[in-house]
Amino acid sequence: MSDFKRAYNFNAGPSALPLAVLEKAQAELVNFRGLGMSVMEVSHRSKDFEAVHNQTISLTKELLSIPEDYEVLFLQGGASLQFTMVPMNFLPQGKKAAYVITGSWSEKAYKEGKMLGEVYEAASAKDSNYNYIPALSELKYDQDSAYIHITSNNTIFGTEWQEFPDTGNVPLIADMSSDILSKPFDVSKFSLVYAGAQKNLGPSGVTVVIVRRDLLETANTKVPTMLSYATHVKNNSMFNTPPTFGIYMMGLVLEWVKEQGGVKAIYKRNQDKAALIYDTIDASGGYYKGHARQDSRSLMNITFRLGSDELEKKFLAEAKAAGFVGLNGHRSVGGCRASAYNAVPVEACQALKEFMINFQKANG
Ligand SMILES: *Cc1c(COP(=O)(O)O)cnc(C)c1O
Repeated sequence: MSDFKRAYNFNAGPSALPLAVLEKAQAELVNFRGLGMSVMEVSHRSKDFEAVHNQTISLTKELLSIPEDYEVLFLQGGASLQFTMVPMNFLPQGKKAAYVITGSWSEKAYKEGKMLGEVYEAASAKDSNYNYIPALSELKYDQDSAYIHITSNNTIFGTEWQEFPDTGNVPLIADMSSDILSKPFDVSKFSLVYAGAQKNLGPSGVTVVIVRRDLLETANTKVPTMLSYATHVKNNSMFNTPPTFGIYMMGLVLEWVKEQGGVKAIYKRNQDKAALIYDTIDASGGYYKGHARQDSRSLMNITFRLGSDELEKKFLAEAKAAGFVGLNGHRSVGGCRASAYNAVPVEACQALKEFMINFQKANG
């Protein structure tokens, strides 16, 4: 056990990692599994690293129940490079791609698609500052679209898809950067899923891509080598040097999730954690106002406001002094945001609940 107080870390990303994972990494840092060097100093072509790499892939498949006909890739460039790689590979000339715009990250994905081909909006929640997820029945897209792109959880606005559409023959592609591994989902509905690791999976530097082989078969062929999914599939994500330390850390995080009882158990815990804070908002008689509409609330990013800018400043300053980190809302929403990713312990959410109740009592 460490003899210091862990911060109540509600950072939006990079974000909290499980203490047990950090301690394990610390314990084997300078002498990785008896090799006399750290995992960062090992060749990515060695048997020792290959074991770490392949174990991390198989744990990803196991925990997310990924079917046989999917590949798991570890890429670089963040989720942001996926905004580019997706249309580069899967938006051919003469076809259009549909985007559901539910926040800043969807807007960014759409912008990159537009740079590379024809795109259109299947729905947008911009009209009410992205405080909801459009109903599945409101999605408008043509059956001959190249794909439909969604953002499963909107990190900045604090909304999350509660169910996913059945898109038939149109490949469904999702940016799941901020809610992957937080709850079970049916991978078979998707042709491609991607996520930057730094919210729920590990440190920044690794981007996970889960892609079905039948989509890969349709990919554009004139794509620069490093930006082509085929390159990385062919080389088991080792065409060039992969982010070895990040992959190793992600493996430790996945082992930790498995020890917690897997994604189902993590989901239950995430529901309990989010409820501590949402219930406080709902019971405050309007003192705290949630940004997201109730039917669209995110389990991961809880966004809320207080009655005035001064009160929010006071709340954030006192929260900071009380040991809470990362509660400032994103500038596009203002107010406060508590990101309660997988590694944020229940006690941190309980402490935030108590802080919120006491603040209201003192400043009501
Ligand atoms: C954080 C985030 C991104 C950006 O990820 P990078 O790895 O920094 O490129 C994209 N989409 C969503 C939903 C995010 O939460």
